[in-house]
Amino acid sequence: MNGRMIDVAIVGGGLAGGLIALALIRARPECRIELIESGAMLGGNHRWSWFASDLSAEGEALLESFRQTRWDQGYDVQFPRLRRTLAAGYRSLTSADFHFALQRLLPQGAIRLNTSVASLDAESVMLDGGERISARAVIDCRGFAPTPHLRGGWQVFMGRHIRFDAAHGIKRPVIMDAAVTQNAPVGNGGAYRFVYLLPIAAHELFIEDTYYADSPAFDPSLLSGRIDRYAERHGWGDGADASQETGVLPVITGGDFNAYLKQMQVPGVALAGARGGFTHPLTSYTLPIAVENALAIAARGDLAGPQLAAFVENRARAHWRKTTIYRALGRMLLKAAEPDRRVDIFQRFYGLPERLIERFYACRSTLPDKARILIGKPPVPIPRAIRALAGKGNPLAMEKV
Ligand SMILES: Cc1cc2nc3c(=O)[nH]c(=O)nc-3n(C[C@H](O)[C@H](O)[C@H](O)COP(=O)(O)OP(=O)(O)OC[C@H]3O[C@@H](n4cnc5c(N)ncnc54)[C@H](O)[C@@H]3O)c2cc1C
Repeated sequence: MNGRMIDVAIVGGGLAGGLIALALIRARPECRIELIESGAMLGGNHRWSWFASDLSAEGEALLESFRQTRWDQGYDVQFPRLRRTLAAGYRSLTSADFHFALQRLLPQGAIRLNTSVASLDAESVMLDGGERISARAVIDCRGFAPTPHLRGGWQVFMGRHIRFDAAHGIKRPVIMDAAVTQNAPVGNGGAYRFVYLLPIAAHELFIEDTYYADSPAFDPSLLSGRIDRYAERHGWGDGADASQETGVLPVITGGDFNAYLKQMQVPGVALAGARGGFTHPLTSYTLPIAVENALAIAARGDLAGPQLAAFVENRARAHWRKTTIYRALGRMLLKAAEPDRRVDIFQRFYGLPERLIERFYACRSTLPDKARILIGKPPVPIPRAIRALAGKGNPLAMEKV
């Protein structure tokens, strides 16, 4: 294929790259694209979930292309002093379903698997084997990379999809069960811990043990053992794992976004996905943002590379500005509260009005929402809260796990 010119080369067939490819083909079926992924499957090994209220009608229509698990009876949260059922619907998509749908929906030859990109520039990508693909526009979706320019902590988790011998009786997703032991030691200190449950079927649960910690230390057997004990305590009996996933995701509490972009950007190449800064700083989720970004890029898919890069950079900067509040809340969580009191921050948050909570997850908090989230009776000592809000946090520099 040396010498062949395509319209758009997308590097990285994860969530962002796959959604951009799909949105481009839906908007402009004649567009010649290549989605280049180093792994054997698009999307890696993930289960991506989101609230129905996170997406616009167009975003929902884009995701209709994928088989999803849907829950429409609301969801639960549990804290030491608060139990609540909220109304929003919840959705979940596995990376296997993502992979197979894209194989079906993208034009033949548009997907290259097991292909690593060695370098890229505004007009081409160079594959590991030495092949060069020329493109009118190049989009870099290679996933988050550690950086000294952003600061914060880590969300560390293991999720296991378990098939039990008997029905488990869980009717709705439990987005946070934080009525579990807090400050359970991890790495060099304590952390905010919660369990997340998705009832996939009457006998099947996805159980995830998650903590917010200062360090990215990750001990798979510790988390797996906690999941076993949680299942035992609920009397769910014996079960066998259908699949497992793990994550160490950045919780971004501050940093120098200009310096970050300078580190990550290749001139004239659009930088998208988690690598482009399109994440929710506190939850580390990207799906709703990736959907909106894919639609916006598809609507401007006729732009030449450098213009497309500038367009996406403007969106990233706007996203960084609009998410200031979530970084401040992250500083309160990681810096102002003692590890065993971090739970109080989420407990207070989940007592707020439901629409505010929906807007928080969708990164659409209004000015009154922001005031309500940060002002009021802070569940942490005021001097520490002030120091945390004014502080910076630790650099998010680590080996990618
Ligand atoms: C286990 C797990 C569960 C998560 N669950 C959720 C969730 O429920 N909801 C949510 O919104 N977010 C979730 N996230 C967070 C976030 O949405 C995901 O990390 C998301 O996949 C990020 O999308 P991305 O496309 O930017 O990066 P990725 O999905 O990581 O994709 C990057 C891709 O680039 C490929 N790549 C890298 N370098 C090269 C190269 N040189 N050449 C070719 N290909 C390359 C990688 O193999 C990878 O497939 C989860 C993250 C993890 C790890």
